[in-house]
Amino acid sequence: MAEIIVLGSAAGDPSPERGSSSYLLRAGDKLYQFDAGEGCSVAMKRQKIDHSKIAAVIISHTHPDHLSGIFMEIQMMYLAKRKEPLPIYLPSEAKEPLERFMQATYLFKEKMGFDIPISAIQPDPFFRDDNVTVYTRANSHLENYKQYIENGKYSNKLQSYSYVIRTGNKKIIYSGDIGSVEDYADLLDNCDLLITEGLHADLERLMDEVGSHGVKHLVITHLTDKMYKQSEQILSLGHKYGVVKVHLAEDGLKIKV
Ligand SMILES: [Zn+2]
Ligand SMILES: [Zn+2]
Repeated sequence: MAEIIVLGSAAGDPSPERGSSSYLLRAGDKLYQFDAGEGCSVAMKRQKIDHSKIAAVIISHTHPDHLSGIFMEIQMMYLAKRKEPLPIYLPSEAKEPLERFMQATYLFKEKMGFDIPISAIQPDPFFRDDNVTVYTRANSHLENYKQYIENGKYSNKLQSYSYVIRTGNKKIIYSGDIGSVEDYADLLDNCDLLITEGLHADLERLMDEVGSHGVKHLVITHLTDKMYKQSEQILSLGHKYGVVKVHLAEDGLKIKV
């Protein structure tokens, strides 16, 4: 049986009660990390996670609330004398900048004592081992930045991904951040667990899609603190559309799949 562990469920605005986006999937005897927002290493310590079991870190996009915790995580692993490699997968536009920023923060690969292979996310499936296969879906989350990139002649490529994860006979979707529910709605058939951000989603549309596709379990995350306080309205919206099982994410929440 697989399990999802929520390390950080906040949206972009730092929250006094929540870390920034980060989730672990436990499958077999390994952990697979999706996003590494600020506070993920603290959350692992608080939740007594054996981080030596992390087999890969997979980043959905490079907004700070999904990436900024990676440096402290690497430092934590160095101080814990990690030996196992830590493969990091992220959008191709960020591969070289991350390598350079690791140097800038004195996280020299030669000093760490463990390998940190950094790979650009490739066409499907880009990650596969004995426990999981991970497929990618490019989404429209960063489209609104087009004008800034053109005007500033920046090299950014607007890369943002949602993931379909197969483990055993289960299908899990992690949306990352999205532009709209349409980014992944066509993937929802036979989905056992959908972990989706709710900040950029029309929640009524979301519930409609989830209900009509018969998704078995919905977890909504990445909401503002104000939105989390409206949980009753959000959950009742789910009931209106026949969503069988729906939760709002909390840091420390564990979900069996
Ligand atoms: Zn975000
Ligand atoms: Zn984002």
